[in-house]
Amino acid sequence: MFTSQLDPAQRVSALKSLASEDFDILIIGGGVTGVGAALDAASRGLKVALVENQDFASGTSSRSSKLIHGGLRYLEQYDFKLVREALHERELMVTTLAPHLVKPVAFLYPLHEKYRERTYVGAGLALYDILRGFQRALPWHKHLSEKKIAEIAPSLRGDLINGAIKYFDAQVDDARHTLSIARTAARHGAVIASRVECEELVREGKRVVGAKVRDLASGKKITVSAKVTVMCAGVWSDQLHENFGIKPGYKVAMSKGAHIVLPKSAIKSEAGIILKTTDSVLFIIPWGDQWIVGTTDTPYKADRSSPVASREDVEYIIEQANRVLLPKIKSSEIIGVYAGLRPLVANSSSSSTTKLSREHTVDRPVPGFVSIAGGKYTTYRIMGKDVIDLAVNDLRRIVAESVTEKLPIIGADGFFALEQQSAQLSELSGLSESAIKHLLNRYGSLINEVLAIITEDKKLAQQLSPELPYLKAEVIYAVTHEGAQSVDDVLSRRTRIAFEASDGGESLAMPVASLIAPVLGWDAAAKKSSVAEFMKLLKSERAALTKLLSQVNS
Ligand SMILES: Cc1cc2nc3c(=O)[nH]c(=O)nc-3n(C[C@H](O)[C@H](O)[C@H](O)COP(=O)(O)OP(=O)(O)OC[C@H]3O[C@@H](n4cnc5c(N)ncnc54)[C@H](O)[C@@H]3O)c2cc1C
Repeated sequence: MFTSQLDPAQRVSALKSLASEDFDILIIGGGVTGVGAALDAASRGLKVALVENQDFASGTSSRSSKLIHGGLRYLEQYDFKLVREALHERELMVTTLAPHLVKPVAFLYPLHEKYRERTYVGAGLALYDILRGFQRALPWHKHLSEKKIAEIAPSLRGDLINGAIKYFDAQVDDARHTLSIARTAARHGAVIASRVECEELVREGKRVVGAKVRDLASGKKITVSAKVTVMCAGVWSDQLHENFGIKPGYKVAMSKGAHIVLPKSAIKSEAGIILKTTDSVLFIIPWGDQWIVGTTDTPYKADRSSPVASREDVEYIIEQANRVLLPKIKSSEIIGVYAGLRPLVANSSSSSTTKLSREHTVDRPVPGFVSIAGGKYTTYRIMGKDVIDLAVNDLRRIVAESVTEKLPIIGADGFFALEQQSAQLSELSGLSESAIKHLLNRYGSLINEVLAIITEDKKLAQQLSPELPYLKAEVIYAVTHEGAQSVDDVLSRRTRIAFEASDGGESLAMPVASLIAPVLGWDAAAKKSSVAEFMKLLKSERAALTKLLSQVNS
């Protein structure tokens, strides 16, 4: 009855539903928190709508370090509740909820000193392993000898390192995961539309009874009727509270975090590396044929929609990584850079963003309106459950409990079996086994839908570029099933070409536009404008890199 397919026809039908139906819950924001809340509410049997004013995950939820983790550094802050909760979510995602997307990843914690540091870090990692409880999808931590470290990570400086401890966390393509949750919510009946902005609330007396939203494609205003409006707007929360004339119970401080992306050849290591810095930690994270290195943590006050890394951010990351790496990373090796904004629930007694709590806050400032902010990507499911638990009080009827702990997201079912059948799938489809593995790790059991596109047109089995594994069929699938509506959606979030390709995807913008134009009904002018919009974003995101490289070359 319901479908997970997000395409142009579904969007038209969603806009119609927004205008004509009465919803139990209207969610503002299509980041991981909003889509998690939409899935939680829809799977309790509620009638749900979600509006996102840009693309799904285009805010913080596509710009994280992409780790599904307990957060080792929160142990040092004695935040055991947060760590335990996050580790439970990590196990759930790796084993049940999203095993096609959330993968274990090994990290080395280098030690500089033989006894005291080893005891301290070893005890911390033992606690980290214990806090996850009896579920054990990921291996236990392990102390490594200097010889073993040299084998696993030849790039770690042997003259400085006295040992290392290997431990496991997990990683995910955040934008893809968020989109998959949105599609799962749609499959359970949620009405979902991106590029629809919530502009104001509708009130009856003091009670909020819905919102006025604008379809940014047509400019048309729609009044959505909903018993409860749930705001999941991340770093936009303060701004929206102000626009809505609402006095919230919390404020959201923004902290910018930047990452650089390097080719695999830049660092020789079979595992990721975590380094302690003065205020926080730096991760060197394996990412396909690249490394993602970051992050920074600096207070931020500028434009929320387009945070960019500064030259200082990039220099800081290189400097921190180079404390332990040999050969050192050179700025000329960097292929990509991105930055995101952490929504930190501000506590007036604290001024430094590194000290602000990573836990989330739920709020009900007026009847019919609740909101949530803060938290971590890893705990999105709990955030969704908590905010819907609060929202249902306003429905004044008995509502079923959350079932998301037992609800795998689309593509998860049958994944482990399909993984073992990759040779057969390769034979049946004519694609290489590595292409099948690439598709399985992005679509899971929905691989059939991508393969069906290739059956229709064999040319779409070709790679989009020899540098990266994405197939042309995936670009088509992005617009026929995944709600992509622009070149930027495809290059920045349905694929991660914008930070994985050495030119940021510049050379692929027009080929992608040509592939999606017929599906989206674009003429030549619309194609050109979508390419131009992507190029503008790319230029601003890579400005720091361009500056740095021109300095190196001059
Ligand atoms: C650098 C960095 C690294 C991080 N690394 C990790 C990590 O490794 N692991 C981890 O667990 N967490 C990590 N986090 C935290 C995590 O990414 C965030 O907590 C999470 O993504 C926040 O999701 P959200 O949905 O609350 O916000 P967002 O993703 O920002 O979503 C809010 C959405 O609301 C939409 N919106 C705003 N106004 C309107 C409106 N008027 N109408 C409709 N929609 C609107 C926005 O467009 C946006 O899409 C990191 C964060 C940063 C910045």
